[in-house]
Order: sequence, then C-alpha cells, then structure tokens
Amino acid sequence: MKQNILREIYLSGAQVVRYAPSPTGFVHIGGLYQSLICKKIAKQTGGVFYVRIEDTDQKREVENGVEGILKALEDYDVSPDETLGINGEDKGNYGSYLQSKRKDIYQSYAKKLIEEGKAYPCFCSQEELNKIREDQEKAKERTGYFGKWTKCRNMPVDMAYEKIKNGDKYIIRLKSPGNPDKKIKHKDVVKGNIDFPENDQDIVIIKSDGLPTYHFAHAIDDHLMHTTLVTRGDEWVASVPLHLQLFYILGFKAPKYAHTAPLMKQEGESKRKLSKRKDAEAAVSYYKEEGIPREAVMEYLMNIANSNFEMWRKQNPDKDMMTEFDFQLNKMGVSGALFDMVKMLDVSKIVISRYSAEEVYNNVYKWAGEFDSELKEMLDNKEYSLKVLGIERGNTKPRKDIAKWSDVKYIINYMYDEKFLNSNINYEYQKINDKNEISKIVKTYFEKYYNENDDKQTWFDKMKDMAEEFGYAREVKEFKLNPENYPGHVGDISTVIRVAITGRCNTPDLYEILKVLGKESIEKRVMKIK
Ligand code: GLU
Repeated sequence: MKQNILREIYLSGAQVVRYAPSPTGFVHIGGLYQSLICKKIAKQTGGVFYVRIEDTDQKREVENGVEGILKALEDYDVSPDETLGINGEDKGNYGSYLQSKRKDIYQSYAKKLIEEGKAYPCFCSQEELNKIREDQEKAKERTGYFGKWTKCRNMPVDMAYEKIKNGDKYIIRLKSPGNPDKKIKHKDVVKGNIDFPENDQDIVIIKSDGLPTYHFAHAIDDHLMHTTLVTRGDEWVASVPLHLQLFYILGFKAPKYAHTAPLMKQEGESKRKLSKRKDAEAAVSYYKEEGIPREAVMEYLMNIANSNFEMWRKQNPDKDMMTEFDFQLNKMGVSGALFDMVKMLDVSKIVISRYSAEEVYNNVYKWAGEFDSELKEMLDNKEYSLKVLGIERGNTKPRKDIAKWSDVKYIINYMYDEKFLNSNINYEYQKINDKNEISKIVKTYFEKYYNENDDKQTWFDKMKDMAEEFGYAREVKEFKLNPENYPGHVGDISTVIRVAITGRCNTPDLYEILKVLGKESIEKRVMKIK
C-alpha cells in the first residue's frame, strides 16, 4: 500500500519511466539514447527512472548481458533509480526487475483472464498454424489467428482440461474482443494523434515454456511498476492497438506512450537504421575504445533528441544539461534522427576544449592504460605531459583539435624528443622550399634570435626582425600591398621554424610550443636540419 502511495506521486506531474532492454549481449547506442531520455524526464519531473530486464525470449539471451547493460548506463552516468543489480539482487521496491523471475505473476494474470473467458489454451501445432496461413493466403485474407480462423477459441473447457491432463502441448492466447472495422484513437507524446483499427488477433500471451510474450509481460509490468510514460523505439508503434487492448482487458489504466524515431545513418542519398552488423558506432563499446568522452556522447545524443539543445549549449557552455536544459518529448523528430559521427566528433572537440590540462591528462592516461601502451609510456612523464596538453588551453579560445583520446598520440608525439628525434620526419615545408635557405633561416633563428626567456611580444617582434633580415615583409599586410617587393612575409619565415621544430605545418601556437620544448630540445631539433 505504501508503495502505491509513493508511486502515485506522478499525479503531481512526476513521471515514472523505464528502459526495458533484452539482454542480448550487445549494448546499442540507441539504448543509451533511450536511457538518456528516461533519465532526463525523471530528473525534470522529480520522477523515477527504472530499468527492467526483458529476458523472456531465452533464445536471445547471453551470459553477462545484464551486466553489460548496467555497466554501460553507469559509465555514461544514466544509472536508473531502480533496477536489477549486477548480482541479481533488486535495487528498488517494485521488483523483481528481471522478467524471468516474474513468471508466477504473469501466469496468475493469465489464469484470471482464462477464468473470465478472456483467454484460452490453444493446442494448435505448427503444421496446423501453417495450414491456416496457407488457407488465408489462398482466400486472399489477412493472415494470423483471429475470428473465424481460430480453432481452439471455442473449445469446451472439459476438452481443454482433458488435453492438458494428457500432457498435450499448449500456449495461452488472448480472446481478442476487437473489431478491425472500428478505430481506436491514440495520442502519442512524440508522434501525435494516430488512429488504428482495433486488434482482433488472438495473440499468444503465454508461450509453451510458460514464459509470457513481450506484449503480455510489458502490460503487467508497466502496470505493477506504475509506469506512467513508456518511451520506446517506434518499431513498437504498430503494437499500440494490441497493447491498449491488453491494458483494457486486464483492467489497468494504460500509460502514455512516446515512440521515438530510430537513430539513422546517411548512406549516399538515403538513410537507414544504424545497424549493429554494419556500423561500428552502433555499439556503445566503440566510444570507449575510440576514447570519445562520455560527455561528448551524451551531449550529441541530446542534440539529436532535441535540436534546440545545440543553441542552448552555445548560450550556456558551463551549465549541466541534466539539471538545467529543458528537454521536451514533443520536440523530438517524428521520423528517423540522423546520427552523424562527424557531428559527434565536432561536439567532442568542443567538450574536450573545455577540459583543463589535468582533466585531459587524466582521461587520456586512463584510456592509454587500456588501449595504447606506447602513449601511456609517453604520458608517464606527467609534469611534462601536463605542459604539452596545456598548450592553448584554459584561455578564451582553447584549442579544438582533439576529438577523441585515440587522436592524442598523433597530435602530441612531436613534443616528445624520443619520438621526434628518432623518427624519419617528412618535413612539410610550405612556401620556402630551398634547402639552403631553410637551413640558414633555422640556424640564424636559433643562434641569433631565440631566447627562451622572451615573452610573446618580444618573440614575435624578433620573428619580424628576422623576416626583414632575410628580405621578407615584416607584416602580411605589407606583403599584400606590394607582393612584387618580397619573396614572402613573416608568416612564411615562422612556418619554416614551425616545420623544422615540429615536422608539421599545422600546430597550435608556436610560441607556446617552443616554451614547452625548452632550449635543449630545440637545439637538438635544429641540429637535425642539415
Ligand atoms: N524489450 C523490448 C525491446 O528490447 C522493449 C520494448 C519496450 O521498451 O517496451 O525492444
């Protein structure tokens, strides 16, 4: 009783929502998307988010399937308030949260329906069912077990009783009272108003192994667990007439439904569902392996869920989206939501740009410990690595070149002498290509202009002085006005230094790089230039 009173809080607007995965061993990014939506709704309404494991299809189940799901939710910070624990214990008052443990509950309801004449045992064999289908196809009728085609629907109770006593195999079917000529109205929270013909199929509610079908189990569970709002993939929308009918027949108040569009991938001109078989990024494990931070994944999923989130985030870069963003189910797209890895990585770059050097370091170090021992070794020198990762960070325009931890090794490896000096560098020189000229510029810079104690302004002024010494324009502007007067400008000169010291033409701020490297390292690099 007390439990019921607690759950009735939803009358005040709080929603009880659930994520109800089957433990198939594969945690799909769509599951994380659903969980994020649930968690957000529960948080926003002061409600409850729970996870129920739907394991009644025992053929699909794998070992550790439950653990994988719960671990993923924890890793992405969308843990439910109530769930089945990893060791099979219930965390919450409305369990069991594992359907296979609720067999007795489903069977009690099935018995009640049989007593009321609303369900019946069906003894039809697979051959008989095939025969019905063939006849229906021949007669160009709808297929299924319904109306005049049903064989066991009106079987006398004594006969059914005898058969069961004889050990005949049976299942339990719903005696559907529906008439497909009549329409039911459904108001979906995401999709809006939809009319459906009533269901007249005598669907299976208990299978021959005694376990319920998804349809039957979910109605009972959502009732007993006091779900107020079902959010689930829109592949279930066609089942709505059946589900509403089940709630009605069972004497339960139906929850609201929000059917969300699947995550889609662009392929050429068309879109298709993100596929577990074809797309690595469909697996939640992919993001961990690639080193895409949790916040980035969740921010991008929120972007897909409510497209106004992007603008909100721009205006509120430091706010917590879980507590402050106003998520609205009815702002979700009705058809397929495009899932674009390029966009995800862009979001990730922004997320990472907000991290301090210490945060980047801790994340990369942890990732490298698991996935890249070479990188880990580089990062073992924490003091130096913090300086490297701190380049162009913590200022108003922080660097945005890191999208994932697996990028970091390439992005920073030239900053490590043992990597840089021992490698065959393909120097990407730009405008100034003459070997002698390059060598002269680099040596002159180091011998005459470089001073490790210079502040940025002095450093830059010296670069200009050197440009002038070599006959280049001190300012780009100057060069643009009279290009015929110069072989190039100060930028071309600093590019030579940049490439000589780092091997690359695109790097963060050269002044900061030189500062971090220090004189000794720079000298060794200069020596490499013949
Ligand atoms: N177990 C169902 C599935 O994995 C859940 C559907 C629902 O959320 O009701 O598709």
